[in-house]
Amino acid sequence: MRIALHVCCGICLKYPLKDLLIKGFIPEGIYYNPNIHPYGEYLNRLETANNVMRENSLKLVVPEYNSDIEASGFFSEIPESRFEQCRKCYSMRLKYTVFHAKANGIKRFSTTLLGSPYQNIKLILEIGNELAAVNGLEFVSFHEEWAKEYHESKRSLRSTGAYLQKYCGCIYSKMDRKLEKCAILAKTRVTI
Ligand code: SF4
Repeated sequence: MRIALHVCCGICLKYPLKDLLIKGFIPEGIYYNPNIHPYGEYLNRLETANNVMRENSLKLVVPEYNSDIEASGFFSEIPESRFEQCRKCYSMRLKYTVFHAKANGIKRFSTTLLGSPYQNIKLILEIGNELAAVNGLEFVSFHEEWAKEYHESKRSLRSTGAYLQKYCGCIYSKMDRKLEKCAILAKTRVTI
């Protein structure tokens, strides 16, 4: 059972990959994440994801970093809201996965984003199921099982010295993370 598996990062990949293999799927990983900013961050996450694939003797398909990003309007339009920005981001990555699946005669697809407790799972499922219906494919998800193992995957990768990201991926999420840190620092100063 071949499956086109969108891979967002090594942490989210680790358990879903193991689980899919146990369940008899043959995953083809696709690292399509032009939302990740900056490029160095994209490469660091790619290295961790690639190592997880290699541990399982699997290869990762890596499309060009910036392909389609301009056309998608991801950075050229100011997002109405974070929800809309994430919808665009999930759609862009899942559409590419569907494109890869169809081009390679694969009947099902999924994304490791479903393994993260920090993502909007309801929205990912909505987009995935919609794309599946339109394209005559099956959208596979074991998100409840996968999310339970997220922190263990993170712990185990950290123990190997692998690179682990600190924000979701886009420039907006990177800014959010910085602002959170500043807020914590400011609070600390007031309470000292
Ligand atoms: S916060 Fe994450 S999911 Fe949302 S747009 Fe940014 S990178 Fe994409």
